[in-house]
Amino acid sequence: MGAPSIDWQEIQKEAVEILAALLRIDTTNPPGGEEAAAAFLSDILEREGIKTERFDAAPGRTSLVARLSGEGGAGKPLVLLSHTDVVPAEKDRWREPPFSGVVKDGVLWGRGALDMKGMAVLELMTVLLLKRHNVPLRRDVVLLAVADEEEAGHFGMHWIEKNRPELLDAAFVLNEGAFGLCEFMSQPTKLFGIAPAEKGPVWLRLRTQGTPGHGSVPSAQTATSRMARALDRAAGWQTEFRVLPEVRMFLERAAAAGLIPVIQDEELLRGMAEMNPFLRAMTRDTISITSMKAGYKVNVIPSEAEATLDCRLLPGRTAEAFLADLQKQIADPEVTLETIYAADPVPTPLESELYDVIQAVLKDRGAGEGLLPQICPGFTDCRQYRERGVQSYGFIPFLLTMDDLTGVHGHNERVSTDNVGLGCEVLFEVVRRICA
Ligand SMILES: [Zn+2]
Repeated sequence: MGAPSIDWQEIQKEAVEILAALLRIDTTNPPGGEEAAAAFLSDILEREGIKTERFDAAPGRTSLVARLSGEGGAGKPLVLLSHTDVVPAEKDRWREPPFSGVVKDGVLWGRGALDMKGMAVLELMTVLLLKRHNVPLRRDVVLLAVADEEEAGHFGMHWIEKNRPELLDAAFVLNEGAFGLCEFMSQPTKLFGIAPAEKGPVWLRLRTQGTPGHGSVPSAQTATSRMARALDRAAGWQTEFRVLPEVRMFLERAAAAGLIPVIQDEELLRGMAEMNPFLRAMTRDTISITSMKAGYKVNVIPSEAEATLDCRLLPGRTAEAFLADLQKQIADPEVTLETIYAADPVPTPLESELYDVIQAVLKDRGAGEGLLPQICPGFTDCRQYRERGVQSYGFIPFLLTMDDLTGVHGHNERVSTDNVGLGCEVLFEVVRRICA
């Protein structure tokens, strides 16, 4: 069966309205409150005759699943995965209020527009369109909108893993992890990002102790001086520079699109990566100092200091090995390291039927210059699927500027209404081809 004829202008309008309403539901995590978002999505699906199921990992921490059944000839399901929680927003620093869902000059504003209520709505529209047009399916299409991704998924994917493991039995997953770019290093382009792999998080709490006293007579080692030295060593650590095959491909494609020079020389590449934080994150294990706590008065030496580190590891490195090396770098046994959260990175092979379909859809639409493989520097809910060998890709088909991307976990998160339309078209066609 060929593609149904769809009025994409109308779909864009509808998707923008739904996304605006979803952005107005404040699901800041903590505390989350994904229940309202799940109810909102469930109402839309049920209204069109699609059965949904909601489950609470804790009061208010609701995830939602809906399934369009296929006759199964093509194998296991495709999962359209999203999370409905968002990170907090410093509302005084935004140009438009973060939970306004306001549209101005063709741009829709709100926390979650990119990460990742926008994609959740593309997935919702895809399921609605398959149903509206009675597209016959060869495999199930599962829409899964989960809670608590931003706080590591204890009330989301970890809960599902324990209580609803059958939802992890799939052939393919599409989720967050990579955006397309309409600009790279100040040059215009149209490249759709795809992430078959992501870095593994290691979140740490560092603690030091020392003798308290008067600020006028410090001893050689205080809790704060110890911590300052440890943090300086951790942040200054030049971790190993490693170019993984996906990153090699990223560089080749970016060079082919004329965005960066062709670089054969490893030293030059290293230099370029040092200047571009995104490239650096794809070629090294990284360490960010994310909080520091010590002291309460300018003339009092405190007895304790505490800091947190957000470390991210490239595939191929284990948390255990990294921690041992970090301890050597800090070189002070009096600094204690406590692991808050850690997960080893698990990649998906780049080549697959789904990857080929995505590539073909973009080519047929003439939608840009193809796919830009990358390692997602963050971590996503793909992990539980990848651990089970499910081919999982980060693929959000929006074409963004570098400035747009600063909105992810930053200020002024927004998406153009044209991108919402583009994303609906691309995602629907990908899903149609792999499932219909
Ligand atoms: Zn996200």
